[in-house]
Amino acid sequence: MKWSKMMIQTLREDPGDAEIDSHKLLVRAAIVKKTAAGLFTFLPLGMRALRKVEAIVREEMNRAGAQELLMPILQPAELWQTTGRWETMGANMFKLKDRAQHDFALGPTAEEEVTDVVKSIVSSYRQLPVIVYQIQTKFRDETRPRFGLMRSKEFIMKDAYSFDVDAAGADESYWTMYHAYERIFARCGLKATPVQADGGDMGDSMTHEFHALADAGEDGIASCPACGYAANLERAERRLENVKCKMENGGCGAYEAVPTPNARTIEEVAAFFGLPPSAFVKTLVYVADGKPVMVCVPGDRDVNEVKLKRFLKAKTVALADARTVEEVTGAPVGFAGPVKPAKADVPIYAESALEGASGVVVGANQADTHLKNVDLARDAKITAYADLVICGAGDLCPKCGQPMELKRGIEVGQVFKLGTKYTDAFKAVYKNDQLKENVMIMGCYGVGVSRTMQAVVEQSHDKDGIIWPASVAPFQVVLDLLDPDNADVAKIANDLETQLEAAGVDVLVDDRAERPGVKFKDADLIGFPVRVVVGAKGLANGGVEIKRRDQPKEAMVKVAPDAALAAIQSALAV
Ligand code: ATP
Ligand code: MG
Repeated sequence: MKWSKMMIQTLREDPGDAEIDSHKLLVRAAIVKKTAAGLFTFLPLGMRALRKVEAIVREEMNRAGAQELLMPILQPAELWQTTGRWETMGANMFKLKDRAQHDFALGPTAEEEVTDVVKSIVSSYRQLPVIVYQIQTKFRDETRPRFGLMRSKEFIMKDAYSFDVDAAGADESYWTMYHAYERIFARCGLKATPVQADGGDMGDSMTHEFHALADAGEDGIASCPACGYAANLERAERRLENVKCKMENGGCGAYEAVPTPNARTIEEVAAFFGLPPSAFVKTLVYVADGKPVMVCVPGDRDVNEVKLKRFLKAKTVALADARTVEEVTGAPVGFAGPVKPAKADVPIYAESALEGASGVVVGANQADTHLKNVDLARDAKITAYADLVICGAGDLCPKCGQPMELKRGIEVGQVFKLGTKYTDAFKAVYKNDQLKENVMIMGCYGVGVSRTMQAVVEQSHDKDGIIWPASVAPFQVVLDLLDPDNADVAKIANDLETQLEAAGVDVLVDDRAERPGVKFKDADLIGFPVRVVVGAKGLANGGVEIKRRDQPKEAMVKVAPDAALAAIQSALAV
């Protein structure tokens, strides 16, 4: 393929709306072009990289025994009404009507649709297990589309679904997909770590997310270097050995009110008392499924709303508005505390680390006032203690007790045990060998194909541009033809192109009438794994120049034209 025949327009300037390196580079390197916020065109170079990621996903799904199908993006509302998700998906789901006024959704995922398909075909245990998958466009009306392909409104997802006769079978399908995911990301050249994750609406069910570690990641991950425990901060747990919030000299006198005019935040109150934030108990009022609850956490900690939601088994959890806070506490916002709130029957949940806390400072449920010398067990009616905070660096690993580290990650895939949530709703049953009907057990498995492509770039780039791994590069080799008008040089380049293509190496020949500097800059920006320079000067001085994108100039080798193919193949292989 010749550069001059391809639609490639690289850009010098970063796009104004791009916040992270990979987004900037995808646009500058002519991989994608923004159509509107959260909507992108894959340009010819980008399409080639995307197809390579897809091919890896497809190969590994097929290898794992999954069967490819393709379901409509346009999904009738009835499917979603069967599980109640027509309502609960909320504003994230694009909804529309056809000309006959029938309701449809643009699929954000396809559990309902696939269950309906499998249920209509599978009736006997003999047909199970089944794993099906598709690589299909998905739509989500994200609150904040950003970071390019990472969080877009329309994106490409591989979604797979498993159907099994029993829990043991579902377990096997789950781990089969888990291991396929390890292979997919490794083959894409991505360092992706499986981490325990929150089950969301599915409660405590088993799920792992695969995260590409990168500072630009939107998710926080707690990981233990000692034993390998890794979990999304949404669900990461910790041992409490070093964080119990007890007064040092044991016991404390009766609590007393202290006027704290204008001190509302923990920082302000801490400064007022001259004590560290950990000596305080922070109390927040939430509304869970329409009912107010109070939540107490150590002053230096934040409430983990995902854990709170799971603990309360609530559908929705949100911070209360000022009016609700006043009703519950009897005071303006900023003075909530667990001791005698105005609404005496409001449940009060406290972080486990606060069990036994005494001598602490809390809000007094009275304007401009705090209470000191509070003993939670003695002075407050705590409904229950639970793990309710976000883990921090240095917290102790729940498995081995060693200090954990915090990292950032990009969620590129997720595997999920769904149980019978969907198969119950659709009555997706099979007959066992006694001809008795049982409900199928399901799992679902997603890979963000377009997000994965960008995550590769986020993990693999430098100041000059992208450094594609050979497995997913738009072209494995760029051949910079420096003197296209010199017939001898052009012939060597043409022969090499033919040889490379015959050997199954995809090569782009930069035959433009541009200066070498321009060609080298573009080659580095787009990030072809191997650059080959064929020019009159080079040929006279040792031959064809071969350089890997991920190695410095000094590592460049010069070989005679007839040794070039082998040298390029070995540069690609390492
Ligand atoms: P996130 O938490 O990032 O919003 P999710 O957990 O809602 O993602 P899933 O339902 O698990 O996403 O979808 C499977 C995969 O699809 C994700 O792991 C991710 O790689 C990808 N994905 C999800 N939403 C988007 C999006 N808006 N743009 C691009 N890829 C996405
Ligand atoms: Mg997910």
